[in-house]
Amino acid sequence: MRKFTAVHPILLATALSLMAACSSGTVASQPGEGSSATGSAAATVDPSKISGLDIVSDNSEQSSCPYATSYPAVPGAAAMTAAMKHDVDRRLAEFRASACQPGSNSAAEQGPELNISHEFLVASGDVLGVRLSTQDRSTSVGDGLSTRTYWYDGKTGTYRTALGLIADGSRDAFVSALKKELRRREGVVASTLDAALDDPANRAAAVDDLAFTSDGGLRVSFDRGEVGVPAAGRYTVTFSEKTATAWLSAFGKRAQRQSVHPDAHLDVGATSTPAESAPAQAAVGDDNTDCKKVKCVALTFDDGPAAPETSTLLTYLAQYKARVTFFTVGQNVVAHPDLVRAEAKAGHEVGNHSWNHPDLTRLSTREIRYQLNRTSAAIKAATGKAPTLFRPPYGAVDAKVTAATTLSPVLWNVDTEDWKYPDAKKVAATVISKVSRNDVVLMHDIHPTSVAAVPEILRVLTARGYHFVTVSHLRATD
Ligand code: ZN
Repeated sequence: MRKFTAVHPILLATALSLMAACSSGTVASQPGEGSSATGSAAATVDPSKISGLDIVSDNSEQSSCPYATSYPAVPGAAAMTAAMKHDVDRRLAEFRASACQPGSNSAAEQGPELNISHEFLVASGDVLGVRLSTQDRSTSVGDGLSTRTYWYDGKTGTYRTALGLIADGSRDAFVSALKKELRRREGVVASTLDAALDDPANRAAAVDDLAFTSDGGLRVSFDRGEVGVPAAGRYTVTFSEKTATAWLSAFGKRAQRQSVHPDAHLDVGATSTPAESAPAQAAVGDDNTDCKKVKCVALTFDDGPAAPETSTLLTYLAQYKARVTFFTVGQNVVAHPDLVRAEAKAGHEVGNHSWNHPDLTRLSTREIRYQLNRTSAAIKAATGKAPTLFRPPYGAVDAKVTAATTLSPVLWNVDTEDWKYPDAKKVAATVISKVSRNDVVLMHDIHPTSVAAVPEILRVLTARGYHFVTVSHLRATD
């Protein structure tokens, strides 16, 4: 079991200053988002309504190389998915190359961390808009949050960058207005601003976060250091609906309309495939296993739910009447509430694994509560029952984290490291060889190979007399 007790003072200062910087921004993955003096964000999108949605996740669970990335793959919008994949893969490859070399840092001291989370801005009519938020703690104090919005025009079948919301002929006017507004802000450096916005080659990188407010205004967000001194944090400029409309491209006008008055459904031209339904096995009665008298094991599956992996796993578990614990990630729960409902209905335990998988020990108490409370609310909305357990991402927990929540932390005795090895045989062999009575085993149901290992694990351990119980059941009867 690993516990973090020391918080590096410089990194803590960075986290705090980033939080202060975020508080004026528009990033929904941060607390304090929503209403600001510059207008409210557009209505929240319910991703569970997006047919065939796949959240592509890649997480480590290792404190010496902590990363968690996610982006949505929406059927029909392949070009936009490819753009997000390209950006995420590049950042992750850079991070792994620089930060995750053996011996490059120790778990005792907080080192680098990469987190890329997503939020839907628009998913209705023929418009799809997504923001990716990248929190990179791999460099020095100047690093931090960067955001980018991605757009898809279902009418023409085209991926669009943020600047695609602005008509070609209006870009100079738009940029002039932007510069005029920013020049008045404290901390903006004229030469930095000119370099970022005058050269069209730099402009696309700097003006890469555009989104609409619920009243049709256009909000432009700049990352720390992009147009001003890093200490000033992020900048956000919001233009009124009337001002913005004059600059918008035809697509921009449709995106604006969908932000204010979303259609009931999204149609970006995907060939319709019947939605896969979640397995419907129901638990038969209470679990009467007494782990004092018989050998128990608590298998735990983190980072999901994922489609179709979690469905497949539920089917395997039902075949052996095995009960397990799922530590779910909030941004995946809202994408697949039907899977979380199916987990609970089948008698499994659903626990909380934060909203987007950050190292909680690096967050403020307010941010920790936001990560856990938002996820508990999503689980309760899906299952009717709030969780009582949480698993801290990377196993990183300290006194501040436990003080911030009433949820009980759950670590593990057996780490399969299944996220490192896409090899079902190896995952099964690891669990079977390492497990002993009343252990808690860590696995991940976002990986097809981990799910594929489960029938062999259930078969062999059942033959050896093990009973598969939830973490709460193990705790109650151990
Ligand atoms: Zn995890």
